[in-house]
Amino acid sequence: MPRDADIVVIGAGIVGAATARALAGYAGTVLLLEQFELGHTRGSSHGTSRIFRLNYPDPRFVRMALGADGEWRRLESECGERLIERAGCLDLGPVARETERALAACGARYETLSADEVRARWPLRLDEGQTAVYQPDGGVTRADRAHAALVAGAVAGGVELREQTPVRALALDRGEVRVATDGAELTARAVVVTAGAWSPRLLGTAGIDLAVVPTRETVVYLDVPSAGEVPPLIDYDARPAAGEGGIDRVGQSAYALAAPGVGLKAGLHHSGPVTDPDDEPTPTAAIADWVSEWAVRRYVDVGERLGAETCLYTNTADEGFVLERHGRVVIGSACSGHGFKFAPVVGRTLAALALEAAD
Ligand SMILES: Cc1cc2nc3c(=O)[nH]c(=O)nc-3n(C[C@H](O)[C@H](O)[C@H](O)COP(=O)(O)OP(=O)(O)OC[C@H]3O[C@@H](n4cnc5c(N)ncnc54)[C@H](O)[C@@H]3O)c2cc1C
Repeated sequence: MPRDADIVVIGAGIVGAATARALAGYAGTVLLLEQFELGHTRGSSHGTSRIFRLNYPDPRFVRMALGADGEWRRLESECGERLIERAGCLDLGPVARETERALAACGARYETLSADEVRARWPLRLDEGQTAVYQPDGGVTRADRAHAALVAGAVAGGVELREQTPVRALALDRGEVRVATDGAELTARAVVVTAGAWSPRLLGTAGIDLAVVPTRETVVYLDVPSAGEVPPLIDYDARPAAGEGGIDRVGQSAYALAAPGVGLKAGLHHSGPVTDPDDEPTPTAAIADWVSEWAVRRYVDVGERLGAETCLYTNTADEGFVLERHGRVVIGSACSGHGFKFAPVVGRTLAALALEAAD
């Protein structure tokens, strides 16, 4: 019986889009299936911006970000559009010392700045005695444009995109994978599951256990006229006290970055509750309030709160990613709240695993 596709990529967030893009030009048939419409706001990849940074305390992530940097630059020259606004990236707090060591070990540029030096360069307020690490190659990824560029490159390279096509189950059969959708059952030589927070449920239908935990994180948008001038900021000194304002999880660090066309986007990393991805996307009011107050303390020109929304993290125990192959099923769970920047390298890895699986 003829197969419907050689490779089916399930989930068209940034990771699925990058995987499909990396499969562009492949001689076989590739389908990219998305349960909702492109650009929907229920998963992890929506919005206008994400932080791109080399700033990591772990040199493995610095090296991976350096690899991703080259891939983003290549994509920019292919699509003729700027996808990363290179404003640099600024870290505050004790983790910044480890970040300096990791950047130095990888040969990346950075500067250590005093509170006065930071205040002289940007309209920010730092506490007396605070220091910052500035890394000039970071910046703001234009998330919606990056996603659109990857999908466009995939489609131009022969990938067929099908929106509004939820996959209900996977079954491993002799030499193929059966992919159950509402309309029909498709057969493929290999599938790549890039279904974000929905991945464990889908993989469970094929008897594959994926140890990730989805959380629903809240971000706020604020009117900050200087947002575009200030580098993305990660403030490891800022966290609520346990129970403060009714916040259950105190998170790891406050962060903020420009949201082009909107204002300043700010959040509290890893503070959201464990969630079912199909639950209503309701922001946590206590986190939105705390983050807004933090932004007022750090930025000199914070105006009104423009809104709040949620976004899903799919968390592994150590913030690493799951990029693996189980026979004809490839899994790409690359989130833990920091996966966007790595999408082009992760997509290449998953595409290589898919070609191996389809062989
Ligand atoms: C608040 C927030 C801030 C972040 N900030 C940063 C940042 O500054 N820098 C950074 O690098 N990263 C950041 N990240 C992380 C980054 O956004 C994620 O790592 C990335 O978007 C994950 O993409 P994904 O494709 O794995 O998941 P998703 O975008 O959720 O894509 C999965 C897709 O699969 C579809 N799908 C699911 N199940 C099925 C099915 N059965 N059939 C068909 N389709 C299906 C879903 O509808 C969805 O579109 C942040 C994340 C959040 C939530």
